[in-house]
Amino acid sequence: MTESEPTEGPGFDAFGLSETILKTLGALGFERPTPIQAAAFTPILEGRDVIGQARTGSGKTAAFGLPIVERLIGADKHVRALIMCPTRELALQNTDALRSYAKGTNVRIATVYGGAPYPPQVKALKGGVSIVVGTPGRLIDHLERGNFDASHIEFMVLDEADEMLRMGFQEEVE
Ligand code: AMP
Repeated sequence: MTESEPTEGPGFDAFGLSETILKTLGALGFERPTPIQAAAFTPILEGRDVIGQARTGSGKTAAFGLPIVERLIGADKHVRALIMCPTRELALQNTDALRSYAKGTNVRIATVYGGAPYPPQVKALKGGVSIVVGTPGRLIDHLERGNFDASHIEFMVLDEADEMLRMGFQEEVE
């Protein structure tokens, strides 16, 4: 039994998540929310601000990812969520996780990070995505170049915010 497989507490069906998401969670083998998930789902679904702190492997990605995907199901094609990550590896990892939660929905995700060519990223951004995951510098570059419209953003996630600040991304974060 790992830390991310709790045996008590509310089930996923206690949060008003859609059938599609509940089915996906079953297919992923998630039986019940971890403590940070159980604490974060309701405020995020309600659009409130949340600061989460928990150890690696405690299910933080799904704690913010599941309610965001849930809220964006059926939304029209605008970028509605930005997820800022300190490293390209974390951005790619988060993208994989978000895609697994968004399976069977209309929610699409683009990933942008430095050290890679712009054109494929621009193409992805213009392809009707709801969520953009990226590293701070490149995210801001795309914003400044007008590569996507940020006027419909509803969710902003600073993943590993402490790490981003430690790496000197304070200006970008602000
Ligand atoms: P994270 O802390 O977000 O990196 O997640 C750690 C691992 O736990 C990942 O492999 C997740 O897929 C998995 N996980 C997240 N939430 C749950 C859950 N409620 N039940 C079982 N596994 C989970």
